[in-house]
Amino acid sequence: MKLIFATHNSNKIKEILPLVGDNKLSSLDDLGFHDEIEETGKTLEENALIKARFVYDKFNENCFADDTGLEVECLEGAPGVYSARFAGNQKNAEDNMDKLLDLLKNKPNRKAQFRTIIALIIDGKEHLFEGIIKGEILRKKRGDEGFGYDPVFLPDGYDQSFAELPLNEKNEISHRAHLLKS
Ligand code: IMP
Repeated sequence: MKLIFATHNSNKIKEILPLVGDNKLSSLDDLGFHDEIEETGKTLEENALIKARFVYDKFNENCFADDTGLEVECLEGAPGVYSARFAGNQKNAEDNMDKLLDLLKNKPNRKAQFRTIIALIIDGKEHLFEGIIKGEILRKKRGDEGFGYDPVFLPDGYDQSFAELPLNEKNEISHRAHLLKS
């Protein structure tokens, strides 16, 4: 089956490619579409649906879109749906992590989870899926792999951050992997 993944993020494409089996995956850039789709929703579910519906209406092809948030327990689920622009509209991963580390400086409870929602539209029918990986926020950034908050996220049961794990290992346990295998 031909599927469009409604993203410009090449890291996500790399992560998801080995997981989609024989399906042929195109990104928005493969289709020559380079604009941002505005994420105006107040929840991950709303944002994933906004992006998937936009792409389905524009290209009339089966497609999926994701939205992810890092939910930190002692911050009552923040940054959550605002994870990308936690430290401002420049969407800078280093600034986001610095803000998070600063807010958690004296916090003993460092429990957090990545939660991903995927909205899949097949022949006009909408399906929502959820994937979660639990872990904790480290006190310092560690590692250079991955993207986003990877250097400060320690998945439960591991002693390497997401950014220290080789991509194939992160792929096997990540929120997106949990979701796509379900
Ligand atoms: P998005 O909505 O999936 O683009 O993600 C929102 C925010 O969460 C962005 O700041 C991403 O960098 C961050 N994020 C999403 N997935 C991951 C991940 O696997 N590791 C680290 N950060 C992530």
